[in-house]
Amino acid sequence: MKYILVIGDGMADDPLPELGGRTPLEACRKPYFDSLCERGELGLVQTIPEGFPPGSDTAIMGIFGCDPAKYFSGRAPLELAAGGGVMPEGGACYRCNMVTLGGEGLPFAERTMLSHSAGSIEGEESDELIEWLFAGPSFAAMAAAAGMSVRPGSSFRHLAVQEDADLDGIVLAPPHDHLNEAIGPILPRGNANAEALLALMERANALLERHPINEKRRAEGRLPANGIWFWAEGKGARLPNFTARYGEEGGVVSAVPLCHGIAALVGLEPVSVATATGEWDTDYEAKTAAALNILARRGFAAVHLEGPDEATHNHDLEHKIYSVECLSERVVRPLCEALRARGEDFRLLILSDHRTYMRSGAHGAAPVPYMLYDSREPRPGCGLAYSEKNAEGGPFLDSGTRLMELLFEL
Ligand SMILES: [Zn+2]
Repeated sequence: MKYILVIGDGMADDPLPELGGRTPLEACRKPYFDSLCERGELGLVQTIPEGFPPGSDTAIMGIFGCDPAKYFSGRAPLELAAGGGVMPEGGACYRCNMVTLGGEGLPFAERTMLSHSAGSIEGEESDELIEWLFAGPSFAAMAAAAGMSVRPGSSFRHLAVQEDADLDGIVLAPPHDHLNEAIGPILPRGNANAEALLALMERANALLERHPINEKRRAEGRLPANGIWFWAEGKGARLPNFTARYGEEGGVVSAVPLCHGIAALVGLEPVSVATATGEWDTDYEAKTAAALNILARRGFAAVHLEGPDEATHNHDLEHKIYSVECLSERVVRPLCEALRARGEDFRLLILSDHRTYMRSGAHGAAPVPYMLYDSREPRPGCGLAYSEKNAEGGPFLDSGTRLMELLFEL
């Protein structure tokens, strides 16, 4: 028996007028996914625990069986673990996004959050900019005074590690939840350390605004990476071992450090694919092949697709739909067909980790549909396609931490 988890990040949504009152899941063409769902179980799961901000960090921790209420201490420490990074005693880790701030010339607090990803900036340019910034004498002196160093992330997702960090009362905002808003109300606040972070962000903007890479990006019609944004703070992370609890070893195929970090912390193998992008244009075939490669050696494989979530943050409905269609036809279909050809029985769980709303571009905490398929087809299926509404008539799981018990029949 093989056990497979497929996460379509942020694919669940609300009905949209431009889709005639349907959700992207209802409007897209996903015949293979739906055929499995019809023969499987469809229900709703509350992946975001009450009182937690909706996001992949808490949702995916829960999906891997770790209760966020017990184990969550910020997203950045999870990502730091992905690269084998070590947190200094008493230190903290932050996400340090490359962002695009609109309204050049306005006071800093009146600038707007145009893009949380600097227009999905390419890894090479992003790394060059952040290394240039932290190496420049004026910024380096400020960063050193704050005990801050950077780990380039090969995308918009850099990390910053701070020694002796005070997180008490600090409030940092996820930039993807505030697109096109003025940044004044969401700037770091709450304690003296927040002031230091804010000063670094403001100086970074002044230095990056007219960097030659950004001038080139503007000339080519791309968004400049003219700001950095600290958020997702945390002090450390230890998670319970996956294999000890569920009895299988395995790996997690993803393009995002968060998933690799959670995988590493629960004792699963983080698997990267060189041609994966974390966007709608990722290399679906290579990710599928990587999962099949894990399943040739181990009992469990997860594939995480960030495309639907990023497309939604970018207000790109066409590619949100496209990403889900690719999940069905270019990941799930070849994965299942290959396992059937190998004569393997399998249980497959597919879900959206959290909702991401086209209407706002932000995450939502409402329950999400999950689909469980067993290739032995032991019971009559639900007879329904995978969608938010269809899932309402099925079982309701009050916590994402119950999903692995369901997948592994515990
Ligand atoms: Zn997201």
